[in-house]
Amino acid sequence: FLAIDQLSKRFGALTVLAGIDLVVHKGEFVCLLGPSGCGKTTLLRQVAGLDRPDSGRIVMNGRDVTQLPPGQRDYGIVFQSYALFPNLTVADNIGYGLQGPRATRQQRIRSLLSLINLDAIADRYPAQLSGGQQQRVALARALATSPSLLLLDEPLSALDAQVRQHLRQEIKALQHTLNITTIMVTHDQEEALTMADRIVVMHQGRIEQIGTPAEIYHQPATRFVASFVGQGN
Ligand code: ATP
Repeated sequence: FLAIDQLSKRFGALTVLAGIDLVVHKGEFVCLLGPSGCGKTTLLRQVAGLDRPDSGRIVMNGRDVTQLPPGQRDYGIVFQSYALFPNLTVADNIGYGLQGPRATRQQRIRSLLSLINLDAIADRYPAQLSGGQQQRVALARALATSPSLLLLDEPLSALDAQVRQHLRQEIKALQHTLNITTIMVTHDQEEALTMADRIVVMHQGRIEQIGTPAEIYHQPATRFVASFVGQGN
């Protein structure tokens, strides 16, 4: 579904991505896991087209999207900071990117509100919502156009522990229901271990290991993976 081929990126003298190869299958939930500065956000930004690689390719659904601007790529994205429009209601935030006749848009908004259990707060403004609620709205907005890829950049890290726990399950259940291919950036190993089908452990711009949570946890391929994820942590 998504193939990343020898992707490299430098900022000045700093090599942030050093030849990343990664294949993500349709419907898979993949976590990019690693310490701060290892390049995971930069990798996600390349997939989103928010940033261009120096070399390498990104192929999605058989189409080379490496040079396409973000608007021509088929994904929804959620950032750590909810990035909602403060002057729009929940319903209008969700419908912001939708095109087409008003009635069709309204119907799509209603179905998203009910999918993510936001009906009761549809007419509120972002400032009137908790962090968890704002992030659920951001998720609904990302899914509004029915993209085939969902990108999540540390979506839970600004939330308190209890809300985070709850949202983990909610995102996982939603991803499963929609069968939407998902790539999530996190530095939280527990989050990756509980949510991912496969985990990509990154370190200094390289992939250290790709594997299921059980493989990563029980059979770390390198000392770095063992210390970052494994039982020694
Ligand atoms: P974090 O969890 O802290 O965001 P990360 O693994 O996502 O870490 P990146 O945000 O991808 O890491 O950053 C990787 C490295 O690239 C860091 O050293 C960062 O300072 C550097 N970097 C990122 N974006 C830029 C930029 N636009 N210009 C210069 N350096 C950058």
